[in-house]
Amino acid sequence: MECANRIQVLDKNDDVYSVIKKITEEGGLDESFYVCDVSELVWKCNNWKKLIPRIEPYYAVKCNDSRIVLQTMAALGTGFDCASREEIRRVLSLGVKPNKIVFANPTKKISHIIYAAEMGISAMTFDNEFELYKIKKHYPGAELILRIKCDDVTAKYVLGQKYGADPEQESERLLSLAKSLDLNVIGIAFHIGSGCSNYAIYLEALAAARHVFDIGKSLGYVFRFLDIGGGFPAKKSNSIDEIAKYVNKGLAEYFSDTNLQIISEPGNYFVNSAFKLVSNIHSKRIITEARKNGAKETSLRMYYIDVSLYTALIPVLFQEFYECRPVKSIPNAPEYPSIIWGPTCDCSDKISNGAVPMRDMEIGEWMIFEEAGGYTLSIASEFNGFPVPDIHAVVNEEDWLFLTEKAPKPLSREKFVSSKNLESYLTGLGTPCTFRTNYF
Ligand SMILES: *Cc1c(COP(=O)(O)O)cnc(C)c1O
Repeated sequence: MECANRIQVLDKNDDVYSVIKKITEEGGLDESFYVCDVSELVWKCNNWKKLIPRIEPYYAVKCNDSRIVLQTMAALGTGFDCASREEIRRVLSLGVKPNKIVFANPTKKISHIIYAAEMGISAMTFDNEFELYKIKKHYPGAELILRIKCDDVTAKYVLGQKYGADPEQESERLLSLAKSLDLNVIGIAFHIGSGCSNYAIYLEALAAARHVFDIGKSLGYVFRFLDIGGGFPAKKSNSIDEIAKYVNKGLAEYFSDTNLQIISEPGNYFVNSAFKLVSNIHSKRIITEARKNGAKETSLRMYYIDVSLYTALIPVLFQEFYECRPVKSIPNAPEYPSIIWGPTCDCSDKISNGAVPMRDMEIGEWMIFEEAGGYTLSIASEFNGFPVPDIHAVVNEEDWLFLTEKAPKPLSREKFVSSKNLESYLTGLGTPCTFRTNYF
C-alpha cells in the first residue's frame, strides 16, 4: 500500500492524539513529524463563512505553503493571496482558477508581474508611483488595488512602516496618476498588522477605505473590490467572534453596496491550530549546582530534541513560545525545571521559554508542541543538516465525506487512506509520513 501524500481518514474512536500515540509507540522511529488536522481547516473555513458571510477568504500562502494546506483550501473553494511567482505557480498547479488569486504584494519583481500577466492573474496591489509605472509597462490590463495604511499600534507585527499609502496624504495623488496612465484601479486593500488586539481598528480602517473609495469616485473610478487583509487571531482559544462583530458593523456602516466583492487574506487564522509538531528527545543532561552556605542543591534538566527552531519553530526567534508537553502523560509525576534545546550547535536554538516545569523525561520519549502551523514550515531551513519534519495528515470521517463529495472542488478518493490500511503500512515501513514537506 503506497501511502505517500495521502490523508489518513480517522476511525470513529480515533482522534489526532490517539494517532500520535500510535505512531510514536510503533518504535524504531526517531524522526520528528508534524500532524496536520485537515478537519481543523474545514472547521475554520465554515466558521468564517458563518460569522462573516459577506467576506470571501483568500488564504495567505506565505503562512504555510505546504501541499496539504493549499490542496485543502482549494477544495474548500477559498481564494489565495500570493506574493511571488512560486506561490502563484504552486496554487495554479492545483487547478485553481486565476481569478481566485490576488497578487497581494505592493512591490513586485518585474519578472513576476510578467508571469502574472502570462497566467492571467490580474488582481494586484500597489502603494506607490514606481509600481504604477512598472505595471503600466508590463501589464497595462491589470486590475489594481490600492493598499492603504491603517495600522493597529498594538499589533505584534506592524506592517505600515513597510507597506501602504497614507489614505489622507498619498491616495489622491496615486489614484490621479493611475487615472492619467489609463490604468484600471478596482478597489482598496488594507492590512492592520498581525497579532492585533484592538479590534475596533477595523472600524477605523473601513472608514479610511470608504474615504478613499470616495476619492476614487471623484476621479471617475467605480470601485468594486475591497480587501481587508489578514492578521486574524491564530490561537484556537481566541476565535474571530469579536472581530466579526466589528467587521460586520463597519461593512454595514460604510459599505452597504452588495455588488461589492469583499475579500480577506487570513493566514495564521486557518493554519496555526491545524498543526502539531511531535518531536523526539535524543539527548539529555542534568546540571547540578551545589548552593553555597548549605542551601539545597538545585538541578536543571536539559533535553535535546531533533527539531530546531530553524527546521520547525522559527517564531521562537521572535519570542513566540509553544505550549508543549510529553506525549505520554504520567499523573502526579514530580516536575523539575527543564530547558528544551534544538539539535543544532547554536546556543540560540533554545525552544522553551527559559526553564519550564516538566516531569522527568527519558531519551527516546516524545513531546507535542501545539498550534505550530503558522510561519513554521514555510520558513524552515535544514540548518546544520537537520531535516525539516514531514507532515502526517489526518481528517475525520465526516469531513472526509464532505471533502470528497460536497466540497466546492471535491478531492479525489485516491488522496485518502483508511486508518486500517495505514496501520499495515506503518508496521511495514516504520515511517508515519504521508506528506513530504518539499513535495510540490
Ligand atoms: C502576511 C500577510 C497576510 C497574512 O497574515 P496573517 O497574520 O497570517 O493572517 C495577509 N495579507 C498580506 C498582504 C500579508 O502580507
